[in-house]
Amino acid sequence: MKTVAGRTDRVVVVGAGLAGLSAALHLAGRGRSVVVLERDPGPGGRAGRVDLDGYHLDTGPTVLTMPAILGDAFAAVGADLAAHLRLTRLEPAYTARFADGSVLPVHTDAERMTDVVRDFAGPAEAAGYRRLRDWLTRLYRAEFDRFVAANFDSPLGLLTPDLARLVALGGFRRLDPRIGAFLSDERLKRVFTFQALYAGESPMRALALYAVISYMDTVGGVYFPEGGMAAVPQAMAKAAAEAGVEFRFGTAVSALERRGPRITALHTDNGSRIEADAVVLTTEPHESYRLLGRTPRRPVQLRAAPSALVLHAGGPAEPALGHHTISFGNGWASTFRELITDGRRMSDPSLLITRPTATDPSLAPPGRDLYSILAPVPNLDRGPRDWDADAQPYAEEILDHVRARLLPGFTPETSYVLSPADWQRRGLVAGTPFSYAHSFVQTGPFRPRNLPPGTENVVLAGGGTVPGVGVPTVLLSGRLAADRITGGHRTTTTTLDLAAEGSR
Ligand SMILES: Cc1cc2nc3c(=O)[nH]c(=O)nc-3n(C[C@H](O)[C@H](O)[C@H](O)COP(=O)(O)OP(=O)(O)OC[C@H]3O[C@@H](n4cnc5c(N)ncnc54)[C@H](O)[C@@H]3O)c2cc1C
Repeated sequence: MKTVAGRTDRVVVVGAGLAGLSAALHLAGRGRSVVVLERDPGPGGRAGRVDLDGYHLDTGPTVLTMPAILGDAFAAVGADLAAHLRLTRLEPAYTARFADGSVLPVHTDAERMTDVVRDFAGPAEAAGYRRLRDWLTRLYRAEFDRFVAANFDSPLGLLTPDLARLVALGGFRRLDPRIGAFLSDERLKRVFTFQALYAGESPMRALALYAVISYMDTVGGVYFPEGGMAAVPQAMAKAAAEAGVEFRFGTAVSALERRGPRITALHTDNGSRIEADAVVLTTEPHESYRLLGRTPRRPVQLRAAPSALVLHAGGPAEPALGHHTISFGNGWASTFRELITDGRRMSDPSLLITRPTATDPSLAPPGRDLYSILAPVPNLDRGPRDWDADAQPYAEEILDHVRARLLPGFTPETSYVLSPADWQRRGLVAGTPFSYAHSFVQTGPFRPRNLPPGTENVVLAGGGTVPGVGVPTVLLSGRLAADRITGGHRTTTTTLDLAAEGSR
């Protein structure tokens, strides 16, 4: 594995999102002196928090998977995840609600889910579910450490015996027909393929490799931290500060000072100059390249993932709804075509509705519930639109669907809408918080590399580089960046995960 050249005693990390916090913890744990520069007033980045009328809104991720990776970041500085965060494993992980009125709780426990699938769709589908679960587990073991949690120096790094294993598992076929080899009930197939959207793809186009995401949530489990998702970056920043990491919030990096191939100092908008031996940039890749004064060399422009409109709404308690509900519309292939190919809004929307107060009631005033309703929408490259004008009316439309399907008569007393216009103002590519799509040509060694050419002491981290978008993956990107600075890392994710499984 290639590492940065020269001294690496003083490392400056730009950005205190989950990627930057992970990098800071791993670097501090390996004896580096670390300063984190963050433009916002606190940590979290996309995993943000808004406090409104007694409600505490998580403005970013709601589905937390693979806590072992988070635990690894805490362990890097000798800290214990459990001492910093109280995580609840959600059972069911999701509840799927279909347009025909049927409801499927998605349990992660094998026996329980087999029973549920048998009741839902009969014994043949229950047997298919068991075979699918076994396949997902084998796929995860063949893929994760070697191809997801790994630094690549070139595409030749793919050529290992694990690649042959992945081919034999059908990892390079399309996701939808591959899952169809195990399940024939269209509703069940959706439950194990919708995760392709997390990777910015449709199940019909995505490679079966991306079923590893379905492993993460439907087998590995979905978790929720006490205090909401924003408790994750808060706890990471606390552990890092206790390990000696210096944080400077409200400090935007405006320029990098270069001597030949090395960045020697960072300049901030408040006039500071901070010297560095090595730098980790967790800014969006286009911003990182601007700071580096370089133009990425790529024959074809990178394709951004779809974006989202999120309506946060507070109102009267509705205990019938679980923590995560996926409300599927009738359309399926057409929904992905509208979002990804045509750049149009979904005509029959599928929605993720999260009710965090189902697990932590302290996130809303007494007797009240908080909901976040996520509607995928096209990114601004594919579907340009004036979201400043359209966000509120579209949020109303989405709310009408939610009332009709789940919460009759629900009238929010508080609401807060985030749309592509907001992500664009944050400088996020194509107004999407989900960065570049995970098509095959934008994955692994083909994704923007974390060692940018032409500068010998800078490493990139975050969703725009390897391994990609999402909480576990950006946490890994921080670790991979640290590995590029200090040399290798011992623990593998599958070992951590299997150990955690054993202790459950
Ligand atoms: C609505 C939404 C829902 C999501 N749902 C999920 C989910 O359910 N599950 C999941 O796993 N993932 C989900 N994600 C994705 C996940 O949240 C992100 O992939 C992840 O948080 C990105 O972390 P990051 O550190 O790469 O980027 P960021 O969080 O954006 O961190 C980058 C940081 O750099 C700072 N910065 C930028 N420029 C500068 C500068 N010049 N100087 C100093 N600081 C700077 C920014 O302020 C920011 O804090 C969701 C995201 C959103 C927004």
